[in-house]
Amino acid sequence: MSSSISPADYLDIDSQLSEEEKLIRASARRFVAEQIQPLIREAYAKGEFPNSLIPAFGEMGFLGANLEGYGCAGMSNVDYGLIMQELERCDSGIRSFASVQGALVMFPIHKFGTEEQKRRWLPELAEGKLVGAFGLTEPEFGSNPSGMLTRAEADGDSWILNGEKTWITNGGVADIHIIWARTPQGIQGFLVERGIEGFSTSDLHGKMSMRASVTSSLAFQDCRVPASHVLPEAKGLKAALQCLSQARYGIGWGVIGAALDCFETARQYSITRRQFDHEPIASHQLVQAKLADMITEISKAQLMALHCGRLKDQGRLKPEQISMLKRNNVAIALDCARASRDLLGANGIMEEYPVMRHMANLESVKTYEGTDHIHTLVIGEAVTGIPAYR
Ligand SMILES: Cc1cc2nc3c(=O)[nH]c(=O)nc-3n(C[C@H](O)[C@H](O)[C@H](O)COP(=O)(O)OP(=O)(O)OC[C@H]3O[C@@H](n4cnc5c(N)ncnc54)[C@H](O)[C@@H]3O)c2cc1C
Repeated sequence: MSSSISPADYLDIDSQLSEEEKLIRASARRFVAEQIQPLIREAYAKGEFPNSLIPAFGEMGFLGANLEGYGCAGMSNVDYGLIMQELERCDSGIRSFASVQGALVMFPIHKFGTEEQKRRWLPELAEGKLVGAFGLTEPEFGSNPSGMLTRAEADGDSWILNGEKTWITNGGVADIHIIWARTPQGIQGFLVERGIEGFSTSDLHGKMSMRASVTSSLAFQDCRVPASHVLPEAKGLKAALQCLSQARYGIGWGVIGAALDCFETARQYSITRRQFDHEPIASHQLVQAKLADMITEISKAQLMALHCGRLKDQGRLKPEQISMLKRNNVAIALDCARASRDLLGANGIMEEYPVMRHMANLESVKTYEGTDHIHTLVIGEAVTGIPAYR
């Protein structure tokens, strides 16, 4: 191997990062290695999110990192992406926690909320003193949330919510939920606090993926929400989709972390594992081909993420471009996890190696925040002008 090539940064993409960006990545990587990695296997096996980490996430500035003011870290979108990458290097469920809190809860309050709502909620969400959730999906409406059945009716100076949401990350533990409901005037975002009358949650059990993340169903039965809890500018599905664009952008970066962890695990394993005449399996052409494919796809994914991050920092990144980022990078991360599992042979199925966990997690990531199919159709519409969602 040429001494000038770094296996995990094959194209020297680091040369395109500022010193500050590299420092932020290094501190996130250290935090993940020291604080999260030691807990993740047990958390995944038990099917629990490691709650003890939440305040430290706040101290590290991981929550709503790319938002300005109200106690948020005010980092760039590239900084934010690098943090997501380091969190998902450990586990997609850990990155999901930060994605939901920052992109799906803090972002809509920041973008669509009143000054009073921002002051009331954002600082404590940024500190990790409060946890948030985002309820859009319903049992009968996943890829097509425009059909939602959850209703909100005005009643004096409050709103009455009825309906059901499901597959909601952090749902059972959240203090505050961003809930999307249909009103006579159209779809509207509401802030619903935990514990109010008529609102209940139940956690989903039996997940074979994303086990270190809480996923819940939410039920609203004549649930009265004060008018002060309407997010005034969160009007229409377009507003919900703006939140999803923030989260999808973070996923586009995050999954690179999972792919890198799979690549590095397979690379090291193939150099040390010996078969046939006691030669390392890395000496076989078929094994090298898999590693070459993995790092080529990871490098392309890194370039796409960095380019999108720079566009986003200039305010030029479009939702259709985020669809390409999310779709491509999740797909290659999943391919890397499968190839890595293969190269580890039987050991690849064991929990002491991270690849099977990444693979299982990435199946959820492929589905949530717009399935692979839906992002394919977004790209198809962008290049033909013809929507083909039906
Ligand atoms: C672990 C996890 C966490 C989640 N967290 C949240 C959360 O915090 N908040 C939230 O609101 N939701 C959340 N979701 C829900 C997620 O966003 C939905 O699962 C997703 O939108 C897909 O909806 P669905 O599961 O109902 O699948 P469906 O929409 O039923 O799709 C099933 C299949 O049909 C395909 N399909 C559907 N329509 C079309 C079409 N027009 N053309 C081609 N193919 C199509 C899909 O691509 C998919 O392959 C989460 C899901 C998971 C797994």
